[in-house]
Amino acid sequence: MTKENPEVWVFVEEINSQIKPVSLELLGIGKKLATDLETKLGAILIGYRIKNLASELFSYGAEKVYLVEHPVLSYYRHEPFRDTLAYLAFKYKPDILLVPATPLGRDLAGGVATCLETGLTADVTELAIDKEKRLLLVTRPAYSGNLMATIICPEHRPQITTVRPRVFSIPEKRKQAKGELIEEKIDLKEENLRTQRIGFIPKERVVNLEYAEVIVAGGKGVGGKEGFSLLQELAKLLNGEVGASRLAVSAGWISHEHQVGQTGKTVRPKVYLAFGISGKIQHRVGMQNSDLIIAVNKDPSAEIFQIADLGIVGDWKKVCVALIEKIKRERKP
Ligand SMILES: Cc1cc2nc3c(=O)[nH]c(=O)nc-3n(C[C@H](O)[C@H](O)[C@H](O)COP(=O)(O)OP(=O)(O)OC[C@H]3O[C@@H](n4cnc5c(N)ncnc54)[C@H](O)[C@@H]3O)c2cc1C
Repeated sequence: MTKENPEVWVFVEEINSQIKPVSLELLGIGKKLATDLETKLGAILIGYRIKNLASELFSYGAEKVYLVEHPVLSYYRHEPFRDTLAYLAFKYKPDILLVPATPLGRDLAGGVATCLETGLTADVTELAIDKEKRLLLVTRPAYSGNLMATIICPEHRPQITTVRPRVFSIPEKRKQAKGELIEEKIDLKEENLRTQRIGFIPKERVVNLEYAEVIVAGGKGVGGKEGFSLLQELAKLLNGEVGASRLAVSAGWISHEHQVGQTGKTVRPKVYLAFGISGKIQHRVGMQNSDLIIAVNKDPSAEIFQIADLGIVGDWKKVCVALIEKIKRERKP
């Protein structure tokens, strides 16, 4: 029997028994990496009463699902999730571990990398394989986004990487796909843990920027909070969300959860409307994969026009107000 190559793993994030779309995006890129390494793609499912999710993971490309269920894992806490994932990695020795760059994933990946004494590259924009050396090539912006660095982890395993939502697309779903389910039992005890959830207060409104189909974004050129109220009105009419540049966020005109870019969110809407945004590289890396980019800027040499599908040279407010009025007029019964 020939020995199998070490696997590529994806940590699956679920909430209330729903798999988060970013986990499926990671299965898509994970499958490509596994094919290049001539190995299998494993999905790691940790939680409680979530076994039923395994079939969905098979249909998105996982060939193996490693499942750990325990009441202690019914909601996320760093310690038991870290120990469980580290235990699995220690036992099965995967080559690569991909983790969503969500608040949960970022918290988890650092702890697991520390336990396993291996490297972690955060917020990657590209993943590839050096087939000859069997190394993961991880590309991400460096030096304030002035250059793209390709990082390797040659000596330690697994090679751990966090990937933001929307950097890769969800693969096509395969009907009736099957795979191997590996159930692991781990001895976890509530009394050994240092944290306990005593309540849960959901946010009044979650800004779903990453998965919005339309984003109406504003930058420094929008001039202030009042400007963002207008953008909000347009976004509402278009069933979209409001995005922002970092300068608009640091000016306090809108909260950070709306920020698009290197230190904000990565988005892929069908339409991205950019009002008064210059289009610096740190902003562009977060939105350049949008299907249609419409930019409004009074400066004809603004960098945003280099990637815009449609560009309007002019005052953002005039264009925004005209759009709002036109939509309202057309929707009048
Ligand atoms: C490490 C690092 C990380 C960063 N991360 C991010 C990030 O995640 N996201 C991000 O956005 N930036 C980020 N930045 C900042 C980035 O470099 C830019 O400074 C920022 O994106 C510029 O924001 P802006 O386009 O709103 O402002 P500006 O560059 O000041 O551009 C304002 C634009 O508005 C136009 N304008 C002015 N008035 C009007 C008007 N009336 N009508 C139409 N147009 C008008 C101007 O012509 C100009 O092009 C980062 C920087 C660093 C160093």
